[in-house]
Amino acid sequence: MANVTATVGAGGAAADGPATEARAKRRISILGATGSIGTNTLAVVTEHPGDFEVEAVTAFGNAESLARVARQVGAKVAVISDRTSYNVLKDALDGTGIEAAAGAKAVEEAAARPVDVVVAGIVGAAGLSPTLAAIKAGSRVALANKECLVCAGDLFVAEAKRAGVEILPVDSEHNAIFQALGANRIEDVERIILTASGGPFRDWTREAMLNVSPEQALKHPNWSMGPKISIDSATLMNKGLELIEAYHLFGIAAERIEVVVHPQSIVHGLVAFRDGTMIAALSAPDMRMPIAHCLAWPERGRATSLGLDLTKVGRLTFERPDTDRFPALRIAREALAAGGWATNILNAANEVAVAAFLAGTIGFPEIARLVEETLSEARSAGLDSTPTTIKDVLALDKEGRRLAAQAVQRFAASSPAAARRMD
Ligand code: NAD
Ligand code: MG
Repeated sequence: MANVTATVGAGGAAADGPATEARAKRRISILGATGSIGTNTLAVVTEHPGDFEVEAVTAFGNAESLARVARQVGAKVAVISDRTSYNVLKDALDGTGIEAAAGAKAVEEAAARPVDVVVAGIVGAAGLSPTLAAIKAGSRVALANKECLVCAGDLFVAEAKRAGVEILPVDSEHNAIFQALGANRIEDVERIILTASGGPFRDWTREAMLNVSPEQALKHPNWSMGPKISIDSATLMNKGLELIEAYHLFGIAAERIEVVVHPQSIVHGLVAFRDGTMIAALSAPDMRMPIAHCLAWPERGRATSLGLDLTKVGRLTFERPDTDRFPALRIAREALAAGGWATNILNAANEVAVAAFLAGTIGFPEIARLVEETLSEARSAGLDSTPTTIKDVLALDKEGRRLAAQAVQRFAASSPAAARRMD
């Protein structure tokens, strides 16, 4: 079985003894530095300033907050995707010696500056080209931006292999599984188990979910995250994306990847070996943990959050996901079985649907419906062949968004969200 962590088998501690206090600083860059993953990365870096040196920080459009971040960590360069924000960024960095740049190409160039680790914390397929630029430059990638693997799958994995770089999973479930795999061989794995909190509507009926508002869906019970992944967690599409992510990261057959609902979000992932043993990784639900793990790997970093008191947690419970109430998980599994074209369209349609839901244009249950409809339209339109180049991946993504945007128009007319707007 193939995998990009390339490190499975060396997932434990470095062979050359315990880490010494005086280790070299890790040079890192942070893509999506103003977001939730970016902010958590910043927290790890500022908690242990002696451990890190920051080369580049990037963001989409909030130049002032990007400049603040850049100053806080003493980055060499700050890059904003949105060109119209360049002057604000430049002014905000005036006199600091920090270089300012703007535009999508400049983000890719920043990602390609040689460092030890690039944190891929952009949201959506927009992160694909910058993350690939980091890979091509030979930097290890701490991957939060799971959409890269969902939209580009095998090609993304192939690029990482070609460049000989490790993709370390920041996503808490995959990070847990990576750690639980330790020095074991993937061949000895019977299955891997991703846990899901179940999101804010875990025990809601289908009827009750018909009219949920973006505000309700954004309130995750255990994690504080960016808006897109918060909605993905509420629909359980996040777990669907993670299933696809796990398939590519660990090179394990889809049937061997299981999803279990675990509302406490303490056990993040488990590995079941063929001898019947299960190894789980546990931690508080705090993204600083997997981020710090990836930044220090293969060494162990220093503690970044309070340890876990199991007696305070009390109970750990597990249940099967309900794919009738949460069809996104079934749709994602079917897309994985259908191939790379389908996971690409799934991701594109989901990004469009989530944005439409957040804008109040479509209702909550329509997110999954819209994704499923876009997939069948893409098949009818003959888009069902797997992309063979990254250029194809980007073109397919664009087509998926176009079809999904048309579906938004159709859904908008009949959606409960539209009815609410008319009130
Ligand atoms: P976020 O919305 O909080 O932040 C996204 C960041 O990307 C921001 O800095 C934004 O400026 C930048 N960005 C957005 N669109 C961009 C574009 N078109 N071009 C360049 N930059 C752009 O998102 P987040 O919650 O931090 O999530 C980031 C990624 O990490 C997602 O793929 C998500 O699924 C994954 N992830 C997040 C968490 C979490 O706790 N937030 C956990 C696991 C995985
Ligand atoms: Mg996750």
